[in-house]
Amino acid sequence: MIRATSFKGKTVAVFGLGTSGIAAAHSLLAGGAAVAAWDDSAAGREAASHADIPLVDLSGTDWSQFSALVLAPGVPLTHPEPHWTVKKARASGVEVIGDIEIFARERALHTPKAPFIAITGTNGKSTTTALVAHILRYSGRDVQLGGNIGRAILTLDEPTPDRFHIIEMSSFQIDLTPTLRPTVGVMLNVTPDHLDRHGSLENYAAIKERVVQGAEVAAVGIDDAFGVAMLKRRVQSGAAIAFSAEKSLAPGYSLLDGTIICSNREALAVKLASLQGIATLRGKHNAQNALAAVAAVRECLNWVGQSSDLDWQGALSSFPGLPHRMEEVGRIGKILFVNDSKATNADSTEKALLSFPRDVFWIVGGKPKAGGIAALAPLFGGIAKAYLIGESSDDFARTLDGRLSFERSGTLDAAVFAAARDAQSSPGTEPIVLLSPACASYDQFPNFEVRGDSFRNLVSTLPGIEMGKAS
Ligand code: ADP
Repeated sequence: MIRATSFKGKTVAVFGLGTSGIAAAHSLLAGGAAVAAWDDSAAGREAASHADIPLVDLSGTDWSQFSALVLAPGVPLTHPEPHWTVKKARASGVEVIGDIEIFARERALHTPKAPFIAITGTNGKSTTTALVAHILRYSGRDVQLGGNIGRAILTLDEPTPDRFHIIEMSSFQIDLTPTLRPTVGVMLNVTPDHLDRHGSLENYAAIKERVVQGAEVAAVGIDDAFGVAMLKRRVQSGAAIAFSAEKSLAPGYSLLDGTIICSNREALAVKLASLQGIATLRGKHNAQNALAAVAAVRECLNWVGQSSDLDWQGALSSFPGLPHRMEEVGRIGKILFVNDSKATNADSTEKALLSFPRDVFWIVGGKPKAGGIAALAPLFGGIAKAYLIGESSDDFARTLDGRLSFERSGTLDAAVFAAARDAQSSPGTEPIVLLSPACASYDQFPNFEVRGDSFRNLVSTLPGIEMGKAS
């Protein structure tokens, strides 16, 4: 646990008692602060009282006693309107911060040179964060991974000069972290997201940009216009390096025939690792993630004065990938079964269909998002047949009618068995049974993880299946 010594002797309000709120309260208590914790939900309050955290009804208390309000990232800070705790804090001149800000202050106070990589972007954050951690572990380093993925940051081990903190950050978390200042700040990409919480795309992008603004080294993806503008601004104010999966860069990290290269200003390039044949890094989107991860690790090692000479190929080739993101779960002969349950909208499913361009037996549907799957029509040519599940079936049947062979399977188990049966008679060299629903899961499952786990379990019962023999 990381102790919040910077609040020693002070009183801090903590609102939002999920995992990160409870960790923040423990960290503050361990650091010598007094804590007044609260949650709108009785379940949150109960969890906190079981964890020995002092509860105080913040609606009826004197806010002038507080040095800070530590807010959970899910609680609105600005839009659609500030939460009542934020209004009370502002009225009393109390600063509003998140748990990652506490980490940043502890690091600045005790070990400002401790290697710290913060990763953001609209898409690919978790994959990139996991890959950065994997590369560093592969090279024998002491790594702590958390933030918006895995463990709450304050439950990790404390920073030291030889320990690498690799932290995924959502825009909500960045908004609550005014003094982030990572060793390397990574910006993957920006596309419209969470506009209800940030007011406008410009505001959302400006919040994301803070990850690179305060970094010792900024690693910026320039495959969208926001990234290009961020790099330009950053180059004027500090060290920056660009990466692109679309164009060759000098200086920067880019691809040459599927190999990640790093070029200097004179276009002298070092070849680092080929992405060809790495099943967990298929597709252009994963090339962007891999470029970001390699850039982040290399720039961080250089900045802390350690050799960046490592077995990049071995590191990338051994990346196990993350569950539910084009996860190759098993094979029956030449048929490959892929779990892409995390694809909860058409944009994400597009990435999977681009990565598996032919002989796809596509399980699709659930609780539909606006626009459905109409935008995927240009990719229908690679689909052998679709299997419709869930609430979206009527809607998607209308979209597919006359364009693609499909059946209404209704449930995931019926779809898995039908798709596996049909794939057996496919003439293709590697038929793919792909769960990439392009929909939320809530009509039939508690969340996308349970949906993906169900797919994996169903596949594991098929005759002749070899699980984990993905490639
Ligand atoms: P995040 O943590 O940002 O949600 P993930 O790494 O969990 O991102 O990936 C979620 C989904 O986003 C993937 O299943 C894929 O469809 C899509 N995706 C991943 N990386 C990228 C990228 N670099 N650009 C665009 N889409 C991506």
